[in-house]
Amino acid sequence: MLLFDSHVHIGVAKIKNIEEGHSSLPAYNNATANTFSNYLRVSSAKGVTKCLAFPFPFNEVKRESANKYILECAQKEPTLILPLLLPDDIRSIEANITNIYGIKEHFYLEISNDVMFPIYDLLRKTGKVLLIHAHRNEWRKKISEISSNFPELKVIIAHCARKQPFSDEGLVDNVKDILAASKNRSNLYFETSTIRTNGASLAELINLVGDEHVLWGSDFPFYKDKDEDVYKLECEFISSSKLSDDSRKKILSENFRHLFQADNIWIRRACDHDSDTLINMLEGISEPERKLLAISAKSSFLKQMLRKPKHVFVAENSKGQILGFLRKSDRPENGALIEEVYVPANSRGSGIGRLLIESVTKALSYAEMKTYSSNDPMVNIAKKLGFTPTFTPKKTMINWRLG
Ligand SMILES: [Zn+2]
Repeated sequence: MLLFDSHVHIGVAKIKNIEEGHSSLPAYNNATANTFSNYLRVSSAKGVTKCLAFPFPFNEVKRESANKYILECAQKEPTLILPLLLPDDIRSIEANITNIYGIKEHFYLEISNDVMFPIYDLLRKTGKVLLIHAHRNEWRKKISEISSNFPELKVIIAHCARKQPFSDEGLVDNVKDILAASKNRSNLYFETSTIRTNGASLAELINLVGDEHVLWGSDFPFYKDKDEDVYKLECEFISSSKLSDDSRKKILSENFRHLFQADNIWIRRACDHDSDTLINMLEGISEPERKLLAISAKSSFLKQMLRKPKHVFVAENSKGQILGFLRKSDRPENGALIEEVYVPANSRGSGIGRLLIESVTKALSYAEMKTYSSNDPMVNIAKKLGFTPTFTPKKTMINWRLG
């Protein structure tokens, strides 16, 4: 199954001078760091290929620098990270509105409506989301305020509004309350992280809100028990819940896609789920094209690489169809060699090859590739993206470098 995670904290939360009463809150005695490089490793190992990511929600953490860190992460790894910011003043949100997918509002932050309402309005106008974690008894009030003032705003309810961490206590009652308080249910989504019960509540929730309104999330790196495998447990929660395969697919990936991909083609890291499609694509490459890509001699090696697709990225449309792939291999000091870029004939001409290379090279300090000089489309892409020819051993082959 594809996994798109709607709830990930990234950052290093250095909490100094904890405010009165906060030190007893569960989050303060839990994980307070998930650096960019750590999350790249974790998400790759767990097969998470897209995520909504935002800072740790502590009042004592400088919001401005925490937001800046998230934006930097998303810039480096646009194939994985869809950034949400913690609410700051309207100007800083406005300045970054085209680079973000929305806002994460947290009960710890207790920001007044005078600050939040202009931000909600901006989110509504630009079609971005508000992911909200209100305090236990504030859900109803908060939702009805937002709903009556901004009925078109897309709202995701974190943890499906359950009362206690790591339980489904009060979940169904809270959801009923929220539905009663909301004017526009079509813009309301419920995110499943940290419920992790036997799944009866999830089935009931789906009966109430519909499976197209539920999103899967992990709340990584927060845990219930230290050293637990958060992703394994959150996946097991969904797989053990009594749901149809169709519902499961919607919750784990398709609803996320519908909300955030719109009609765009996006690039994401490939995972096991993609290997059959990638191998079919490889086998469909014609002989003249194999020669042009210099893959005739390594077909069986490539097939093996695509069976467990590491270092492979795919271009995917909003129907979930794969339109092309890129494979790279790592080089020292955060560099990479782009090994193959392939887009089948029926998907060419819309900039997919370029988008693959552009997205993947953002995280790298330099990139190299080799093309036949007769491979006009790749030569054009290389030039447009600023690659320079470094070495031409034979007239037929060009070595390129970026950075
Ligand atoms: Zn969280």
